Amino acid sequence: MQEELFGSTIKELEEVVRVNHLPSYTALQISRWLYQKKIHSFSGMTNLSKAARKALNEKYSIHVSPPVQEQLSKDGTRKYLFRVQLNRYIETVFIPEKNRNTLCASTQVGCKMGCVFCMTGKQGFQGNLSSGEILNQIISVPEAGSITNIVFMGMGEPMDNIENVLKALEILTSPWGFAMSPSRITVSTIGLMPGMHEFILKTRCHLAISLNSPFQEERQKLMPAEKAYPAVAIVKFLKEQSIERQRRISFEYIMFRGLNDTPRHVKGLTRLLNGLRCRINLIRFHPVPGIPLQTSDETTIQWFREKLNEKGLLTTIRASRGQDIMAACGMLSTQF
Ligand code: SF4
Repeated sequence: MQEELFGSTIKELEEVVRVNHLPSYTALQISRWLYQKKIHSFSGMTNLSKAARKALNEKYSIHVSPPVQEQLSKDGTRKYLFRVQLNRYIETVFIPEKNRNTLCASTQVGCKMGCVFCMTGKQGFQGNLSSGEILNQIISVPEAGSITNIVFMGMGEPMDNIENVLKALEILTSPWGFAMSPSRITVSTIGLMPGMHEFILKTRCHLAISLNSPFQEERQKLMPAEKAYPAVAIVKFLKEQSIERQRRISFEYIMFRGLNDTPRHVKGLTRLLNGLRCRINLIRFHPVPGIPLQTSDETTIQWFREKLNEKGLLTTIRASRGQDIMAACGMLSTQF
C-alpha cells in the first residue's frame, strides 16, 4: 500500500526525502506544491527531478477529493458531504458573512462524547480523521480560495483526535504550509484536559469550550464528559496556564428553555468564570428530532446576555446559520 503524503508535516516530508536519498531541500519543495500551489500529483511538481517524481510516484499517494454532495441554505450557508476512509462520511459547513467566510470543519467520523443535544453524538463514534482528511475539507470545498476563518466545531471532539488535529494546525499555520494566522483558527472542545494541555502548549489558535451550565449535576446531564472533566477543573486549569493575550478563550453556552437560562445560572457563571480572561458565546438551540429540549426564547436570550455583560463577562449571541439544511450547531449527522 502506498503511503499518504497529503497531511504530512515538514518533519515527516524530510524523513520521506531522507529514506529516498533525495536532496534535503526537496522536502520544502514538496510541501510548497502540496499546501501552497495546491498541486496534488507528483507529475505536476515540476521543480523535482524526473527521477525524484518517479520514485515518489511509486511509493506514495496524494489523496485529495472533492465533496460528494452539497446543500444550500436560504441564508447562503453551504453544507458539504465528504467521503473518507472505509466509505464513511463527514460534513463540512461553509458560512459566508459580510466581512468573513468561515469554514466549520470536522475532526472525527461521529463522536463518542454523547452530548444529549447533539445529532453527531447520537450517531456514535466511527473513527478519527487523518490530518490529510481534516485538511482536505479546507482545500476541497469550492469556496476554498475565499476562506478567511476556520472553526473546528463540526463533527467530533477535536481533543479526542489531538495528534491529527495538531498536525493539521501545524500545517495550516506554518510558513511552509498554508501560512494562515493562528488568530483565524478556533478549536472547540467540551474540555478534554489532556488534549487542551497539548493544544495550549503547541499552538497559538483560539480555544472555545462548550460549557452549557455552570453546575456540575446539570452539566453532566447534558454532557456526560463533565464527570471526567468538570467545568470547575477546566476553569482552574485555564487559570493556571500562561495564555498569550492575543489568544482568545471563549465559552459556548447553548440556551435551553428553563434549563440553563435563569438568574441562578447568571450567578453560577459569574462565580465560575470570575478572574479568567474570556468571553461567552450564547447559542440558540436548534431543535432536532428525538431530542426533547427547547431553545430559550429571544427575550430571555437577550436578557441573559445583558445580565452577564453587567457582571463584567463579555457576552455575545451567535447568529444561527444553515438551520434549514441541518447545518447549524449540533445538527450535523451526514443525513443528506
Ligand atoms: Fe461530540 Fe461535540 Fe456533539 Fe458533544 S457536541 S457529542 S463533543 S460533536
